[in-house]
Amino acid sequence: MSEKIQNIEFPWGHKRRFNAYPDHFRKLFGARVQKVSIDAGFTCPNRDGTKGRGGCTYCNNDAFNPSYCVPEKTVTRQIAEGIAFHRNRYREAGSYLAYFQAYSNTYAPLAKLKDLYEEALSYPGVIGLIIGTRPDCIDDDKLEYLKELSEKHYVAVEYGIESCYDKTLRRINRGHSFKEAEDAVKRTSGMGINTGAHFIFGLPGESRDEMLAEADIISQLPLTTVKFHQLQIIRGTAMEKEYTSNPSDFHLFTWDEYLGFFIKFLERLSPAIVVERFTGEAPPRFLTEQKWGKKRTDQITGLIEKRLEELDTWQGRLYEDKR
Ligand code: SF4
Repeated sequence: MSEKIQNIEFPWGHKRRFNAYPDHFRKLFGARVQKVSIDAGFTCPNRDGTKGRGGCTYCNNDAFNPSYCVPEKTVTRQIAEGIAFHRNRYREAGSYLAYFQAYSNTYAPLAKLKDLYEEALSYPGVIGLIIGTRPDCIDDDKLEYLKELSEKHYVAVEYGIESCYDKTLRRINRGHSFKEAEDAVKRTSGMGINTGAHFIFGLPGESRDEMLAEADIISQLPLTTVKFHQLQIIRGTAMEKEYTSNPSDFHLFTWDEYLGFFIKFLERLSPAIVVERFTGEAPPRFLTEQKWGKKRTDQITGLIEKRLEELDTWQGRLYEDKR
């Protein structure tokens, strides 16, 4: 058997076996950067009737919003409280990124977006913006403005894409196609703006092979960062009802299954894409079942890195560049 790869630098410039988000930022800024979440009171076209009502079947934004984030507070106050929150828990960060997280954060007239984003950027220590949104909530004027902002600040737009398959997007009531997502990613990245995407594994109607094949599809997109979540059934959602009436339609990953699956997925994912998250962690009170026991994000990252080491493999080992 050949000797294990050890102490080599991977194409992303360090020895960790995947292109890790914190290291990416350390390389960009030379120090730790902390994200601070903001709920600026946006809604979403899939909730207000423009695209649909009721939203995506799995969505309950409260499950992912930190407690200091409420739209009744100004952006400035949320940032101040967010910084204090993180300072109490973790090492002090040198600088901060304002993360417009809740709902669709480009879904408003440009003038309103400018006010909110620029309020965030005027806060001492805030060096950039991360803007979570839907692929159908962006247009050329907004992109042009974000491009200008990105000449002076770090700016990233993160799109919820969730699946590369239209049959799944229809089933979970996303209200957009994969083609629309692909176009939004290409247009954003084409303007020189950092572009992120979010995907969920375990959505109903998708086989494990289909999910694995998404690594090849995602690798062809001009993405800077990606976040992955395992499907969790959140209380009070349409998906909870679907799950309760047809549990056999779902096959939720156990932790062991997910670990095995995710290693295979990472091996096929382009080494150029920075991986921010492997899993999601809705607070237990929102979950209909908690199959994984209590595992913090850092423990999950540790377990994934340990398995990569044991198997002597790494992100992109089986990636084929087809671009
Ligand atoms: S997941 Fe996002 S796009 Fe879907 S309903 Fe919720 S806020 Fe809207």
